[in-house]
Amino acid sequence: MNLLKRFLIYLGILLVIGGLAAYHVLTDFASTPYPPDMTLEVFHPETPGNIPEHRVWQPKYPVIDIHSHPQESGKTPDELIKIMDASGVRAIVDLDGHWGWTGHRIQRKLEEYNLKYPGRFILFTKIDFGRYKNPDFVEETLQRLEESVRWGVKGVKIWKNLGMMYRDANGKLIPLDDPRLDPIWEKIGELGIPVLIHTADPVAFWQPVDRFNERYEELTEGGSWFDSYANGDYPSFETLMKQRENLLRKHPNTIFIGAHMAELGHDLKRLGRMLDEFPNFYVDISDRAYELGRQPYTAREFFIQYQDRILFGIDLYPETHVYQDYYRFFQTEDEYFDYPRYYYKHGRWKIYGLNLPDSVLQKVYYLNAVKILQLDRKLIENPSS
Ligand SMILES: [Zn+2]
Repeated sequence: MNLLKRFLIYLGILLVIGGLAAYHVLTDFASTPYPPDMTLEVFHPETPGNIPEHRVWQPKYPVIDIHSHPQESGKTPDELIKIMDASGVRAIVDLDGHWGWTGHRIQRKLEEYNLKYPGRFILFTKIDFGRYKNPDFVEETLQRLEESVRWGVKGVKIWKNLGMMYRDANGKLIPLDDPRLDPIWEKIGELGIPVLIHTADPVAFWQPVDRFNERYEELTEGGSWFDSYANGDYPSFETLMKQRENLLRKHPNTIFIGAHMAELGHDLKRLGRMLDEFPNFYVDISDRAYELGRQPYTAREFFIQYQDRILFGIDLYPETHVYQDYYRFFQTEDEYFDYPRYYYKHGRWKIYGLNLPDSVLQKVYYLNAVKILQLDRKLIENPSS
């Protein structure tokens, strides 16, 4: 009896707490009038009127997602494949084959993916620039790269911490075009695999955080990946762009893919000039649809002109509704709709569909990736054959 009483008391307390929490959530997100401190995340204005909507559930062509982090999702290959199938995604590139992995560990990961689902998962590795101070860093890296490719790795992922955070023995930042790294980029070219390189961040991160900064809310609300670099502790945006250009110039036989529209989605003219100058340079579109979709005429022209150099990817991990929002962006002429997003918003702008020609869609969705990663085109197009 005593026990039952105690149980009922606990249950009562739980119900009260649950009820309060539910009330809080509901009032916060639904019915309350403007909370005075309403954040970008909560703000969700509904557009009045009747703007035609064309949802796209399946892509017009098979899709390869070149920028993915499936391991972060915590999902099993079976679960990932379900999402990929529902989204028309034939293959994803897992960028998180870690540097510390031995050949055996790489093999295990690839077996986990490929025994059951051949061709559906592609693995990239990383380089540990934290070991730069070791005298044998370069030699060790070259060996590790060869070993990784032998075990089935198909590319290298470089993050923005190269150029912005990694330091040498004297405490100096290691620049992207550091001559000591030259043999590494050359080796990657020889091995015939691409480097997916994330350099810098959106240019607004370097601008003063004031009422003119279009990412003001991202930069002030905090709590995520975004950080202002305006305090001068980091190299300037321009410095990083110049370093990347030197890198591309010095290694014409190595293919580089600039992640997130190479952080030049705000300046497609400049990005176009770069693609003209460096035939070894490609870009992925991941997490920048909002920069493209707010300038649909310019972006459409850009996609047509550089259709051989743009790769599909979404960043983070497979999610059906996110893929579908990208398909809507690429395949329709819908106007003024929400950009594909995960957990956080980037700003209060909306996007317009690009309605890309079929031949362009096909290249961006998968043919460019097939070429760079040297995949079997038939396997992507006809999985069952
Ligand atoms: Zn990423």
